[in-house]
Amino acid sequence: MKKILLIQTGGTIAMNAKGAGVELDPEAWSKVLYEEIPELNEIAEISTFPLFFEDSSDLNASHWMQLANCVEEKYEAFDGFVILHGTDTMAYSASALSFGLKNLGKPVIFTGSQLPMSSIRSDARRNLVNAIELATMDFKEVGICFNDALYRGNRATKMSIGDFDAFGSPNFMPLADIGIQIQANVLEQFGSGKLENRAHYSDEVFVLTAHPNLNPELLTGLDLGKIRAVILRAFGSGNFCVKGEKSLLPFLDRCRDAGVVVAIVSQADYDSVDLTQYSAGRAALKHGAISGNDMTLEAALTKLMFLLAHYDAKSDIEGLFQQSLVGEL
Ligand code: ASP
Repeated sequence: MKKILLIQTGGTIAMNAKGAGVELDPEAWSKVLYEEIPELNEIAEISTFPLFFEDSSDLNASHWMQLANCVEEKYEAFDGFVILHGTDTMAYSASALSFGLKNLGKPVIFTGSQLPMSSIRSDARRNLVNAIELATMDFKEVGICFNDALYRGNRATKMSIGDFDAFGSPNFMPLADIGIQIQANVLEQFGSGKLENRAHYSDEVFVLTAHPNLNPELLTGLDLGKIRAVILRAFGSGNFCVKGEKSLLPFLDRCRDAGVVVAIVSQADYDSVDLTQYSAGRAALKHGAISGNDMTLEAALTKLMFLLAHYDAKSDIEGLFQQSLVGEL
């Protein structure tokens, strides 16, 4: 029987409905897990590891590093890993780990739930059982298991606040579809050497959302001496205001002069940025920006954080950002 390590990090799946909201409740969680789902042991030999208990909106790179260290330390002892995690930033953590765990050769499956485990209509049981089963299979990458699918971690994004079907992977097919049978669609491995824990992430990235009537003067206060990359969330295929006093091009020039990488992703979930299509995109290219292609914001952001922590030269960072490292493009 396969050995699976269940790593608890918090989120709704570790919470209890109390009064008007939900609260983290480690004791209730483990009681439900062991007493109410004894069948879990029919799927795999499961060990649990309570790493931390946090709402995922409180997580940062230090938590991603703790997760990567945990997988690295337990790597030889287990066949697969399931990480219980809040849904709000699950796609960020999964993307970050996909870059940080080089040559991953075992499944690392994130899951969580929209309702606490103890709630009668909870999706926690189903997601947990599916994630554990997926962790016994041949996937060799970081995934997110939710509702009826396994998604590539760095392709997934939270799409719904209220539906049980909370995640989607707009630009890449699910790694697996979960029905009566689990149907694996993609079994890929990125790098085949020894697992290398490269989970270090910079916080010198700033995300700017373009919107109509954005006042570029608000950006003059940004200290570009403390920023090494800006992600511009543009409209459609990579457009933003390039005319008149609201033009963002002078800001792009300031970034270029300060040696700051400017990467453009789209506010639209589906399809790819194409900076050659409209004059705004062509201007962006001329003023030094690069394309995030079809990357999710989560993937583009954690990839830049990862690259900035490992490389100094802007040209290296820009070159690697535009290459697929672990299937994120
Ligand atoms: N706020 C929770 C979290 O991300 C939401 C959830 O788990 O669904 O930790």
